[in-house]
Amino acid sequence: MNQTHQADWDLEQSVELYGLERWGNGYFGLSAEGMVTAKTQQSSVALMDIVEGMNERDLKMPALVRIENILDAQIHRLNTAFSEAIEKVGYQGRYRGVYPIKVNQQAQVVEEIASFGARFQHGLEVGSKPEIIAALAMLEEPGSLIICNGYKDQEFVDLGLQAVKMGFECYFVIETTTELPIIIERSRALGIKPLIGVRAKMNTQVSGHWNSTSGDRSVFGLTATQLIEVVDLLKQEKMLDCLQLLHCHLGSQIPSIQEIRSGVIEACRYYTDLLKEGAALTHIDLGGGLAVDYTGSRCAGEQSRNYTLDEYCEDVVETLKQTLDEQNIAHPTIVTESGRATVAYSSILLFNILDTTHFEPVNLGTVGANEPNQLTQLRGIIDYLKPARVQECYNDAHFYRHEIRELFKRGAVDLRTRSVAENLFLDILHRILALVEDMERVPAELANLKESLADIYYGNFSLFQSLPDVWAINQMFPIMPIHRLDERPTRQAVIADITCDCDGKIDRFIGDPEPTSTLPLHKLNEGEEYYLGVFLVGAYQETLGDLHNLFGDTNVVSVRLDNDGGFEFVKEIHGDTIADVLSYVEFNPKDIQLRYRNNAERAVREGRITARERQQMINTFNTSLQGYTYYEKET
Ligand SMILES: *Cc1c(COP(=O)(O)O)cnc(C)c1O
Repeated sequence: MNQTHQADWDLEQSVELYGLERWGNGYFGLSAEGMVTAKTQQSSVALMDIVEGMNERDLKMPALVRIENILDAQIHRLNTAFSEAIEKVGYQGRYRGVYPIKVNQQAQVVEEIASFGARFQHGLEVGSKPEIIAALAMLEEPGSLIICNGYKDQEFVDLGLQAVKMGFECYFVIETTTELPIIIERSRALGIKPLIGVRAKMNTQVSGHWNSTSGDRSVFGLTATQLIEVVDLLKQEKMLDCLQLLHCHLGSQIPSIQEIRSGVIEACRYYTDLLKEGAALTHIDLGGGLAVDYTGSRCAGEQSRNYTLDEYCEDVVETLKQTLDEQNIAHPTIVTESGRATVAYSSILLFNILDTTHFEPVNLGTVGANEPNQLTQLRGIIDYLKPARVQECYNDAHFYRHEIRELFKRGAVDLRTRSVAENLFLDILHRILALVEDMERVPAELANLKESLADIYYGNFSLFQSLPDVWAINQMFPIMPIHRLDERPTRQAVIADITCDCDGKIDRFIGDPEPTSTLPLHKLNEGEEYYLGVFLVGAYQETLGDLHNLFGDTNVVSVRLDNDGGFEFVKEIHGDTIADVLSYVEFNPKDIQLRYRNNAERAVREGRITARERQQMINTFNTSLQGYTYYEKET
């Protein structure tokens, strides 16, 4: 470290600036050395120590770090929050959680959930044949729930029926009327009685990005008429006693507790009337929707939520109890399918900064005696710059810069003159910005001046691979440096990734209360890496990522913290090699090597290179093919 602790800045200011106590759910803090720590009640580790451990193992940046203990703690919190709410409210049924595999399908994650969840019989929700196959292999605890959503063909149904026979409580949730005859037929053929659920189309409209999951035009769930058809067919087949579960999913990331409550009330209506129809319902499955407060603003905004986990559980349990008690209906088992809230906290994307661009004057030099008049005019703006005339100065600066650029185009001024002008222009804009920041009323045109002068920090990662929702749905994740937090961050920056795609940038950051368009960061220190962390990325980011520019999967490590401040790398997965990503788009690495060798051989024949050089080139090529797709610094 060549920068020491600065007296004008303390850790508390960093905590406040980056908001980590607002969004961290208690899982992140700062060490005395100014580093971000991941922590649970018993243990804590500086993320920089993990980076160091990775460097020693030749696991380079970018990397995804999973903290097992956080996943464990979240599953524990979810289950205990429901049991406590049940106790408090005097609810007669119990809670059974399931984790929807689609939220993060990585084997490590599913395996950890199955293992940490076993003590609660936490089950899995599946929506396809690959997912049920994964669930059947991973779950160990008999009696665990498997909830099968999605379209189910005969093979899917056979797997589910066999799961029942093996001792899992595997429910087929009917989403379309066409799947019921298949279930009836296969259960007769295999002699296994099915557990059946129905998914009701919900009218409760929720806000947020996923609001089309509910409502009349939702593609999910059965209408009132279809529900009656299902009941009638089951009755006719003498299987109505198999209909034991009602499924209602309103959407993901529901920001408002009021909407959740009204969804529960609607679910109770379906539950009550299906019972009246003779169904043997015992389970009410409220789906996902428990939100993550990505911005930390604790409000009903799209990327936040206006409730805590405890409030969610209590409101759900209480609403169920009240609504069902009015009808004298026995309390069912409550099932929820929380995905996002279960896995978001445990993964962190880490990357280093490769380079920065500053939009600042570097040299205000002169061009000598015959300086063009336009340049003199530009230089003169500073003389009349004051708050009352900022707009005028801004206009003049643009005008004279434009004039100089035109002269340059026509060959009337040289490159050096233009450089002086560009530098003067930036100097004036920075001076204007300094004035504007203290002004109460800012001219509209100058409102975005700060953003247009912000630095660009180039991060060693691909937005499309590692943070697809930032690109696709404008998702915001908390982003901050993971070290140097005892220093004042003196720069304002936007972040660009290394895909060279103009969409590969982050220019919206969480802020309190409003999002901001720049992120405060530290100046890079010569010869020292600067690391940023993107937090709460455990849900939905990993498998949606794509191979834009052929940047592949990042390195991944799973870390387990122990109680005495240490940690261990329990799993490590090396990211895609260049050969891997090329083979995903059907290049054959062997074939590529052969073709390159032929090219090199031809160069030898033509006398361009020697045979020895040829060998060197082939070695470089082959080593590269086995290397990481991201930027690697020679060490
Ligand atoms: C996606 C999905 C979930 C998960 O929702 P979260 O908001 O991530 O908890 C649960 N159930 C169903 C049916 C889903 O489609």
